[in-house]
Amino acid sequence: MKVAVIGAGVVGRLTALSLLNQGTQVSLFEKSELTSNHNAAFVSAGMISPISESAHAHPEVVDLGFKSLSLWPKILQRMAEYDPLGRDVYFRDDGSLVVASAHEQPGLQQFHYDIKSKLATRDVDIKPLTNAQINDIEPDIKNSHSAFLLQPEAQLCNRSFLTASTRVLLEECHSISQQQLTVSKIKKLQDSFDYVVDCRGEGAIDKETIQQDIGPLRGVRGEVIRVHCPDVSLNRFIRVIHPRHPIYIVPKPNSTFVVGATEVESKSTHPITVRSTLELLNTLYSINPAFAEATILESHVGVRAAYLDNAPSVLKKGNLISANGLYRHGWLTGPAISQKIVNHIQESN
Ligand SMILES: Cc1cc2nc3c(=O)[nH]c(=O)nc-3n(C[C@H](O)[C@H](O)[C@H](O)COP(=O)(O)OP(=O)(O)OC[C@H]3O[C@@H](n4cnc5c(N)ncnc54)[C@H](O)[C@@H]3O)c2cc1C
Repeated sequence: MKVAVIGAGVVGRLTALSLLNQGTQVSLFEKSELTSNHNAAFVSAGMISPISESAHAHPEVVDLGFKSLSLWPKILQRMAEYDPLGRDVYFRDDGSLVVASAHEQPGLQQFHYDIKSKLATRDVDIKPLTNAQINDIEPDIKNSHSAFLLQPEAQLCNRSFLTASTRVLLEECHSISQQQLTVSKIKKLQDSFDYVVDCRGEGAIDKETIQQDIGPLRGVRGEVIRVHCPDVSLNRFIRVIHPRHPIYIVPKPNSTFVVGATEVESKSTHPITVRSTLELLNTLYSINPAFAEATILESHVGVRAAYLDNAPSVLKKGNLISANGLYRHGWLTGPAISQKIVNHIQESN
């Protein structure tokens, strides 16, 4: 069986890895280098947070999210076995904290109500913390905040996943970088492969092949900043209740933190604005004034591809399978989405 996968973002990689694991011959087509830093997968924060996202996400996203949360450890373990360097990808599943300053109490109560009512039938732990308890588990959260500890939630280092999966994909599959496939080239590939899996993410906006049936794919711009701050240490990622954006701070290896992300209805990739920079950095400072001495490593802008209901879709027509619309949930739902794709391929054999 020969499968062509188009797009080496979150879904394309997970699908290719899963197919390779079953002995399928995979050709991966990517418009940039596999090490490119221009896709949403590279820019993103790597949170796998079905509880927090349930406040606003489509119920299907929550289902796929819980499923994926249990799939990630197996995927990473298998990838380390294939990895020529045998490196583990940074993955933490210590839950997350949602915190609010005194001003943002109503927002925190609303958030708590939303997640509790959406997850009434799930086995989740949503625990209110006193100041002393916050101090116990996250001593570097300064100033008085109210918080809830949410479990299970996890995060991985998206950059180390991309680096490790690149090593595996270059070794195990036929990867073709710097091939920007047009819709007509995708149709031609259908003649030479048993299956073609289209995972172009925002590359499919305005150029879709079979997903038009469910409405237009749009772009939602997100801005993030990475800082280096050895003076602050966080054991888990935190969400900060904010009147305009759901802002989070995600600790990464080597004292690096990602603070993000804005949500702007636009597919523009112009550089981060002053307003967004102020809002993101203010949030860092509000959590711990020691962030004032952090160095800014990078700012990035990414575009999330989303359908009108902000839910992902996997469609099959003939031997073309198209997966897109993962919006802000690529890491959260990617493993379950790629499992759906692989199931489609297996069912028809
Ligand atoms: C700021 C920000 C923060 C985020 N944080 C999180 C988070 O914490 N947790 C989470 O779950 N999600 C997060 N996301 C969302 C996540 O990054 C996306 O949902 C995910 O990357 C989508 O995966 P994908 O494979 O569909 O697309 P992508 O990851 O964008 O990959 C698409 C790939 O296809 C390639 N491509 C495009 N067009 C073509 C073409 N014509 N031919 C060949 N190749 C092509 C692209 O170069 C790219 O490599 C975040 C997104 C942003 C922008």
